[in-house]
Amino acid sequence: MRILLVEDDHMIGESVEEGLRAESYSVDWVRDVQGTELALRRSPYDLILLDLGLPGGSGLDVLERYRQRDGAAPVLIVTARDGKGERVAGLDAGADDYLVKPFDLDELYARVRALLRRRAGRASPQVRFAGITLDPARHSATLLGTDLQLTRRQFVVLHALMDSPGELVTREQIEEKLYGWKDGVESNTVDVFIHQLRKKLGSRLIRNVRGVGYRLADEAPGHDE
Ligand code: CA
Repeated sequence: MRILLVEDDHMIGESVEEGLRAESYSVDWVRDVQGTELALRRSPYDLILLDLGLPGGSGLDVLERYRQRDGAAPVLIVTARDGKGERVAGLDAGADDYLVKPFDLDELYARVRALLRRRAGRASPQVRFAGITLDPARHSATLLGTDLQLTRRQFVVLHALMDSPGELVTREQIEEKLYGWKDGVESNTVDVFIHQLRKKLGSRLIRNVRGVGYRLADEAPGHDE
């Protein structure tokens, strides 16, 4: 999952970026209005963490413009402005949730997970498909009740596929979730992770869509042979 972090306070930005990366999210961090506008035009995000007091203007105006352009990612306002009027204005401008500084990182992660599962059209905190269960809060996975040992990046790739079961997920969409700007994308890494996942889940579950990407087949995991 790829998150845009909008925060001009260096200490807060650093700890949130570091924390979210440790939670396996891909994070791009911008510090002012101009950088935010550029990032929103350049990359698709699964979620936006938005500070309101920013160099160059107000996060609220950024949000209003983003929604006017039909920007659809969930937006969590994270700000020191805690007046009732500001919370109402933020939510009415198109924010999905509002967190007041100072905040606990664990609460931030929980709100992020809640917004992401709503975005995927899911109420359950677990993601289930074809005998596989993913638990994003614990980074754990099971196949038919048995623990699956997945690396963080294998988990991210499988999660991306399971959020749109049966549908084509392009290699590019998976890369967007794996890597932020800071990380170089090696051209065949997604294929490598898919290969590793097939070894654990069997060869039938993850189907190639030639030259474009992958989709999860709606059948039980297992090997063809
Ligand atoms: Ca600020």
